[in-house]
Amino acid sequence: MRDYIRTIVDFPHEGILFRDVTTLFADPRGFRMAVDRMLTPYLGGRIDKVAGLEARGFILGGAVAHQLGCGFVPIRKKGKLPAATISESYQLEYGEAVVEVHDDAIEPGETVLIVDDLLATGGTAEAGVRLMQRLGATILGCAFIVELPELGGRVKLETLGIDVRALCA
Ligand code: 5GP
Repeated sequence: MRDYIRTIVDFPHEGILFRDVTTLFADPRGFRMAVDRMLTPYLGGRIDKVAGLEARGFILGGAVAHQLGCGFVPIRKKGKLPAATISESYQLEYGEAVVEVHDDAIEPGETVLIVDDLLATGGTAEAGVRLMQRLGATILGCAFIVELPELGGRVKLETLGIDVRALCA
């Protein structure tokens, strides 16, 4: 999996090593392998919705939802969704960010898998978890292609009782 992902030095700021998954998405074998490996643990169980985190979580989550035969829910950055929303904010390195979901995107009791490309500090995924929980979802887990364990995202989510899966570190 790692061979399909390139690392860009000093993006978006000096000192950051950005894991660029567009090379994985562009490769037919790599993309299929990533989607298949993400969804395999959930085959045979009940999943009502895949919730994807903007923006690369949409690419993965749409493909995962299609393969699992369930619905897809976008968790978007503030101000992008047209109907009534609920929102959650989380801390960034500098400042804060807000994510939103339509308030009717999930029926209480539905089972949801949250998908994104990469887990770093876990702030984005935790905000997604909180949104889903406020709508009454049962969260099956959070699935990523890459995790950066040194940034603590897995610990943050597992402390909340969330199952975390990543294809590589
Ligand atoms: P966190 O909230 O866990 O600190 O950051 C994860 C979020 O930021 C994800 O939505 C992810 O797409 C994005 N992100 C942070 N660093 C990287 C990176 O190196 N590569 C990619 N592809 N996404 C990143």
